[in-house]
Amino acid sequence: MTVRTRVAPSPTGDPHVGTAYVALFNMAFARSQGGTFVLRIEDTDQVRSTAGSEKMILDSLRWLGLDWDEGPDCGGAFGPYRQSERSDVYRRHVEVLIEAGHAFHCFCSSERLDEVRQAQQQRGETGRYDGHCLGLDDAEVQRRLSAGEAAVVRMKVPESGVCHIDDLFRGVIEIDYQQVDMQVLLKSDGMPTYHLANVVDDHLMEISHVIRGEEWINSAPKHRLLYDYFGWTPPVLAHLPLLRNPDRSKLSKRKNPTSIQYYRRMGYLPEALLNFLGLMGYSMADGREQFELGDFIASFSLDRISLGAPVFDLEKLNWLNGTWLRGLSDEAFADRVVQWALNREQLMPIVPLVKERTERFADLVATTGYLLGDNRGLSADSFAQLAMEPEAVLEVLQFALWRLEQVPDWERSTLVECMTSLAAGLGVKIRALLGPLFIALSGRPVALPLYDSMVILGSDVTRARLRDAIDVLGGVSKKQAKRLEKRYRELGEAGPDAAATP
Ligand code: GLU
Repeated sequence: MTVRTRVAPSPTGDPHVGTAYVALFNMAFARSQGGTFVLRIEDTDQVRSTAGSEKMILDSLRWLGLDWDEGPDCGGAFGPYRQSERSDVYRRHVEVLIEAGHAFHCFCSSERLDEVRQAQQQRGETGRYDGHCLGLDDAEVQRRLSAGEAAVVRMKVPESGVCHIDDLFRGVIEIDYQQVDMQVLLKSDGMPTYHLANVVDDHLMEISHVIRGEEWINSAPKHRLLYDYFGWTPPVLAHLPLLRNPDRSKLSKRKNPTSIQYYRRMGYLPEALLNFLGLMGYSMADGREQFELGDFIASFSLDRISLGAPVFDLEKLNWLNGTWLRGLSDEAFADRVVQWALNREQLMPIVPLVKERTERFADLVATTGYLLGDNRGLSADSFAQLAMEPEAVLEVLQFALWRLEQVPDWERSTLVECMTSLAAGLGVKIRALLGPLFIALSGRPVALPLYDSMVILGSDVTRARLRDAIDVLGGVSKKQAKRLEKRYRELGEAGPDAAATP
């Protein structure tokens, strides 16, 4: 069998370390088998997908040293590799399913669907579509479609029975069809959902092994049904264990920086971070903890993956990074420092901020320290000079963080707009908002201009520092969080959940 694997990120946010983890294992497996590794962009969610996020994901993966044989940037025989450019392919396939009676049009309004879901919840049942439009006859469907009524296309699901999923690591997993929803395949705007596009593309791109995160196991029955409906042989399925926070919860940016950009900015070596990801649920046959990508690939075997929860432990990463750094020659070390931050590209945005304020280059160490380094010496006392109640400081930091998590493009003008509207919503002067932010980011009440600093630090570091500042101030208890969320929603904000990108 020709091995073809893929990683299929959705460009809806930061380049996540989990994406790099899945990419690493897919690439290692493909290369170890003389196969092909594909990168596909799953941007069917037109509202949340952005070109900026796609670029950052590709850049970050390349920075880590990962590379793919086929993808949106390098082409290949199975393109296009961006799902938004393949709409007609999905539409054709949906037609096939409707013709064969495996899918149907659904005209239910979102209000009706909400009511159904609520009633199911009250009865303690799994929320799923109730089959309301399943029995509509062809003539009625055609009449309503011709009249321009909005419709989605859903897949049919057996009413009873058990779906058997064969997972390479776990063996056969049984999932009751009663738990499986009649998934929307095509949205009313004609765009496919993840499930349809993913299955159609994996088949058309001749993917032999789907190696992805455990969080997709529950989608497997839908995918399995689609393969059967189309009469296709499914690829080998293998779900990697989820990366975890040290407290064993699913790795989340609330507890750990999850963006590759953060690690890049903070001066981790790409080979050390990649090495660290290669230790997640995997061990080398000789027990070595430090290894290069080439060695990892040369000795790679899927049998060596274990399902115990791999912990993304920063202390371990720091230790490993230090080990890598010490292994560099003095020349290489110096080169890497230059590559990291002391180069023209990194310094140029800082120069206009400091030039007017500098008498000697020596001053730069103090003024730009918080931009280049991470030593802010932040403590609860740092905020004491603000003449604000600690409670109010915490509130401002939390609201700003929620707001910044929803900023799609990290541009200065957007940041200004975002903070100004938050201050207006809170009915406070902008200074009351910016004071706590200044200290959270720089550790000092006076620093270089705030918005420029935020742009230079980037969204990941900025948000990590706000989270850090909240922790330094004692953190937000569950009870406080509830109160803050309520108040945040009263400001007309979408709520913190909307900010929680996967
Ligand atoms: N687009 C999905 C993601 O963002 C891909 C899941 C899969 O590999 O099937 O992770």
